[in-house]
Amino acid sequence: MSEIKEECGIVGIKCPQKKSLAYDVYFGLFALQHRGQESAGIAVSYDKRKIYYYKKMGLVNDVFDEDVLNDFPVGDCAIGHVRYSTTGSSNVVNAQPVVFYGRFGRMAVAHNGNIINCDSIKSEMMKQGHSFLSSVDSEVIASLINLNSEEGLLSGILKSCTKLQGAYSLVIMADDKLVAVRDRHGLKPLVMGKRGDEIIFASETCALDSLNADFVRDVQPGEIVTVDENMNISSTFMPDIERHSCIFEYVYLARSDSYIDGRSVYDMRYECGKYLAELYKIDADAVAGVPDSAIVAARAYSETTGIPLVDALSKNRYVGRTFIQPSQSLRENGVRVKLNAIKNNIKGKRLVLIDDSIVRGTTSKKIIKLLRDCGAKEVHMLIASPIVKFPCFFGVDMDSKDKLIGGYRNEEQINEIIGADSLHYLPIEYLIKACGGNEYCAACFDGKYPVDVEKYNCGKFVLEI
Ligand code: SF4
Repeated sequence: MSEIKEECGIVGIKCPQKKSLAYDVYFGLFALQHRGQESAGIAVSYDKRKIYYYKKMGLVNDVFDEDVLNDFPVGDCAIGHVRYSTTGSSNVVNAQPVVFYGRFGRMAVAHNGNIINCDSIKSEMMKQGHSFLSSVDSEVIASLINLNSEEGLLSGILKSCTKLQGAYSLVIMADDKLVAVRDRHGLKPLVMGKRGDEIIFASETCALDSLNADFVRDVQPGEIVTVDENMNISSTFMPDIERHSCIFEYVYLARSDSYIDGRSVYDMRYECGKYLAELYKIDADAVAGVPDSAIVAARAYSETTGIPLVDALSKNRYVGRTFIQPSQSLRENGVRVKLNAIKNNIKGKRLVLIDDSIVRGTTSKKIIKLLRDCGAKEVHMLIASPIVKFPCFFGVDMDSKDKLIGGYRNEEQINEIIGADSLHYLPIEYLIKACGGNEYCAACFDGKYPVDVEKYNCGKFVLEI
């Protein structure tokens, strides 16, 4: 499934001596490229009050070549960011990290998530005389922290976090410190790793692996971890912590080789495939997964049912995300560029096709037609998650109920649109069981948002559960 344009990925590194950190952040961001393909940026602190940064529109590889990376000074702290815009328009002013002059000289912030009360905080600050350069909530976070830091950086962050509602994982570089923050619900993932005497924070463990760093632990919901100039690590917690990590990270957003909050994304996807096999027995010749995120569930389905696993679709890895194009018609044209069918594997076969989710339905419809055009006799679609019925206000690009194919439709009605021979979804209780517990936000499936979204006027819609 590739209908979601992802969200953002962040990396932060602090080390005891100065070194060429830009390369390390680059490799970390490269591992997180799946989380955002619109812009990339790196900021390196090379002096207590000085930061050098570079950010641009494009993939990590396009933004940073050797010349650009070699221009970075050696430093002892650095942060990086890959972005897909869920707030703010898609231009370089909104790229991150946000770097600005504040109470501690130059400061830098990289943010993953979406602040749902950002507009009211921003207008309050503007009334007080603050001005903003960009339309991203990350700049509001940065300014708020600076405003509140009269008694020091940590108290400024803590004070700001009690005002911010919604999802945020942050890495902040200021005052010769690296600070990592996860919102009180832990909506967005954030992990801590160690490589020798260096401390690394990243959105996913796959970035730690790419840097050959050891995983230390997840940053906990509501936790503020500070690494100071002497590499001392300390933690502070926000009030009112209630864990509701985003379940969609496991379904689609994260890489299969990552671990989030102690759970392997691969194992969870495998479990979902097993449950699909137990629930839906289909008379078929072959099973296939939509690359990349549904391959694991398809393998589990095949191993549980004994139906052979085939590669039905080949993905062109050199095309940007299908939905990078803004309009629906361009999106529709984009699918064929990105995915092609492997005809010999599907010709004359009754196929079970597994995908991780269906959001708008455009991709599924195209894929089913493609498989039929290339000779598949039947295409039975199984989805390794429930119907996406509600928008996400926390930084994942599912904007309004009427744009979701499942917003107002049941399985049968959705199937009429996508044109499969049959369509079944994994019920929510099985998804939660696969994830090992209840401490999740699953609001895009069940409408139970961890924050009062109506109070903050999110999407201005009435909940219909
Ligand atoms: S609404 Fe869905 S996508 Fe958004 S945070 Fe909750 S589970 Fe994740």
